[in-house]
Amino acid sequence: MLKGSTTAQHDGPQALQAAHLSGMTPPEIATLLGIEAFQARQIFRWIHAKQVFDFERMSDLSKELRSRLSEEHTACSLVLAKAAVSEGGGTKKVLLRLSDAETVEAVYIPSRDRVTLCLSTQVGCALKCSFCATGQSGYARDLSPGEIVEQALYLLAGEDLGGRSPNIVYMGMGEPFRNYDATIKSIRLLMHESGLGIGARRITVSTVGEVEGIRRFAGEDWQVRLSVSLHAANDLLRSELVPLNRRYNLKRLMAAVEYYLERTGRQVTFEWTLIEGVNDSLSDAEELVGLVGGIKSFVNLIPFNLVQGIAYRPPGRRDCLRFRDQLISRGIKATLRQERGQDINAACGQLRRRSPS
Ligand code: SAH
Repeated sequence: MLKGSTTAQHDGPQALQAAHLSGMTPPEIATLLGIEAFQARQIFRWIHAKQVFDFERMSDLSKELRSRLSEEHTACSLVLAKAAVSEGGGTKKVLLRLSDAETVEAVYIPSRDRVTLCLSTQVGCALKCSFCATGQSGYARDLSPGEIVEQALYLLAGEDLGGRSPNIVYMGMGEPFRNYDATIKSIRLLMHESGLGIGARRITVSTVGEVEGIRRFAGEDWQVRLSVSLHAANDLLRSELVPLNRRYNLKRLMAAVEYYLERTGRQVTFEWTLIEGVNDSLSDAEELVGLVGGIKSFVNLIPFNLVQGIAYRPPGRRDCLRFRDQLISRGIKATLRQERGQDINAACGQLRRRSPS
């Protein structure tokens, strides 16, 4: 069930003024429109489960309700500005225009046995990690819960998943825990049984290390997964790569991760973007072992994806494998991620406020 307390903050002036139904739960829709709970669930189902945004097509609603909705409300707030599909793999990136003309990007990533949707939580990002394209263009604003969920709806519309449920990763533009309440509400909307009904374990939120967010997240009553972007295992290097480390150093970050593990018992993923000559040596791997060895975790290695204006390079494949194997030989679970969609700038760290591709 949805908890009122986690949703209340986003019913502020911005959400009310917009009154896009996509960001509302069935009870909120019922209250806003003064209709029965079952009618609100029907509307919710059209928008979320069937990705139908045109009220006139919601055939099980009364004619009166349909015309009232068409006159007074909108189901969604985003407009599809551009879609690009990658050669070969079928990775699709969409550029979506928000009602204030800002844009966000979201990515559909099919693989042999599943489909993953990568969603953004902010327009731009304020954290300026040295290797990421998103921070380069600065931060504009937070996304509302509806604007986050609609990315998934647009990515799924017209796709045949053969009855499978998609995986969702909050690894697009922005820092989810800098927009905590909207992120949490969007997850509850994606999980809602009258909508997409996505299982909590299929959803992963990635943070660069917002310590307070990690602690709050530990208290949520669900099995949604947590991923922490680490990239360096000493404060000197991490502060260079991730400026937020100057505020929350590794000691504070790891204390929050330990707290999360104690509260939830769930495995945490650590992400490590491998950059040639920066954090790809065997001694870097050893330092990582020292930091996360003994913690119930999993390391996801991502070879650096090229970003215009950033001088870093990815290590060669052999060096990536050597790093991974070193971790494995020391008892750390690790995988080297197969990146997709670089040809359309849709891979990790390549999403921008305005798409050049
Ligand atoms: N702000 C959140 C979520 C967005 S980034 C976070 O930092 O976790 C998702 C992942 O992509 C992070 O692990 C990030 O460090 C990584 N990433 C960013 N730029 C990259 C690049 N150019 N190449 C490879 N991975 C990158």
